[in-house]
Amino acid sequence: MCAEIAAQAAPVLILLGPPGAGKGTQARLLQEAHGYVQLSTGDLLREAVANGTAAGQAAKAVMAAGGLVSDDIVIAILSERLDQPDTAQGVILDGFPRTTVQAQALDQLLQTRGQRINAAISLEVDDAQMVTRISGRFTCGGCGEGYHDQFKAPATPGQCDKCGGTDFKRRADDNAETVGSRLAAYHAQTAPLISYYEGKGVLSGVDAMGDIAAIQASLANIISRATA
Ligand code: ADP
Ligand code: ADP
Ligand code: ZN
Repeated sequence: MCAEIAAQAAPVLILLGPPGAGKGTQARLLQEAHGYVQLSTGDLLREAVANGTAAGQAAKAVMAAGGLVSDDIVIAILSERLDQPDTAQGVILDGFPRTTVQAQALDQLLQTRGQRINAAISLEVDDAQMVTRISGRFTCGGCGEGYHDQFKAPATPGQCDKCGGTDFKRRADDNAETVGSRLAAYHAQTAPLISYYEGKGVLSGVDAMGDIAAIQASLANIISRATA
């Protein structure tokens, strides 16, 4: 009975990696291919800031400076999002957890839902590549599709491949000053999660220096094994 429930539980996949590693890009591709829902705490926090909620007001300055928003705020936002019915197909966590406290909170949240982590996939890029990726990043304001000046420009300049929109955005925190703090936060607080998930036997590392399609293929392999 328990095994049956576990086998049927919606898959939970974690994408770990420094800012700019390609977590959002790959999460969107997985969402399209498998119907798993991308849960990006960065997107949820930016929405909270834009809506001026209490959480958003508390997070705004920290995000602008490239620090990590407090665990309490992020865990509350993520937990609320996990309760939405669209997560029943399975979720891809993009940018969460980022600290050991968040990882432990996630374990508890999943336990109460009868779910488990199927795979934690670490996207490995070096610091120089991370800076290059962040400095060229922009997104479509209409549908959220991600682009890069050098590596993933729209087929028709100025027009989104996905929705045809012409309004593009760059994130305020994707600047040279903030990148250093974000990188430091990653190494100090998030990188230790690699061994946390290794210890649980769910970690896979992927070389994320290659092109988007090659990384997508590696992820597809890992995920089909982890959800079989
Ligand atoms: P993250 O969510 O990890 O911060 P993104 O998915 O937003 O990273 O990717 C950062 C930037 O790098 C975006 O502009 C994206 O288009 C680009 N990008 C993502 N994956 C690759 C890749 N494998 N090679 C080159 N550029 C990439
Ligand atoms: P990136 O992958 O490029 O670092 P995100 O969109 O994931 O960008 O995050 C943007 C910012 O939002 C982070 O620099 C941090 O301030 C905040 N943030 C997002 N997720 C978390 C989290 N799990 N814990 C703490 N802060 C977070
Ligand atoms: Zn678009």
